Amino acid sequence: MRILVTNDDGIAAPGLRALAEALAPLGEVVVCAPEREQSCAGHAITLHKPLRLKPTELEGLAVEAYACSGTPADCVALGRYGEPRPPDLVVSGINAGANLGEEVYYSGTVAAAMEACLQGLRSLAVSVTAYHDCDFSGAADFVRRFAPLYAEAAAPEGVLLNVNVPSLSPAEIAGVQTTRLGRRAYSNVLERRQDPRGRPYFWYHGEATELDSADGTDIAAIQAQMISVTPVRFDVTAYDATDYTSRLVARTMDA
Ligand code: MN
Repeated sequence: MRILVTNDDGIAAPGLRALAEALAPLGEVVVCAPEREQSCAGHAITLHKPLRLKPTELEGLAVEAYACSGTPADCVALGRYGEPRPPDLVVSGINAGANLGEEVYYSGTVAAAMEACLQGLRSLAVSVTAYHDCDFSGAADFVRRFAPLYAEAAAPEGVLLNVNVPSLSPAEIAGVQTTRLGRRAYSNVLERRQDPRGRPYFWYHGEATELDSADGTDIAAIQAQMISVTPVRFDVTAYDATDYTSRLVARTMDA
């Protein structure tokens, strides 16, 4: 099995190292990750400057690794560049910080998996739901067991799996649940401050408010100290709103 590993926390992130270490025994692992942190980069790609790849090493781990000057989505494209055949699996993570609900739209971790998905590759985004002093062992253990089955089984097209794992050891995790996205809105207050030269600058800060954490959501699973696996589709067409849209368009054309 050939596995491409990437992330958005950057090539030096401990979560990337934990992931590469967990996957290395399963096959041929190639790591291609941003040279610096790209959290919240979303699905951006680099069009207006050159992309560079720098061969590097993950200390003490015998895997091929590259630091990429681009975004997480660029890493997926570059990580398979020149390879004679596509990877069997692309795994992005392990991110330090949850990617629940609408966070999937901001997340570079999920965007890398989405880019793989758009390229017709099987992909997995993995995050632990803590930012500091993360325990990646529960997530690593799950990925090690899940990845071979996922890579081999038939899968629906255009779907990636978004995995969130409590920052706990395997023994402390209460189970695994297949979930849907919840809603976790950020108040995203822009705080206005002043720089030393008297000019204003702005900084996002804000608390997450859980708008939908009902049973069956990714948020509820994490609250129950369970692993959440959400199938995410790139087709975000609102099929239930097509009649409404058609009526509106027809009225516009009649007016
Ligand atoms: Mn990140």
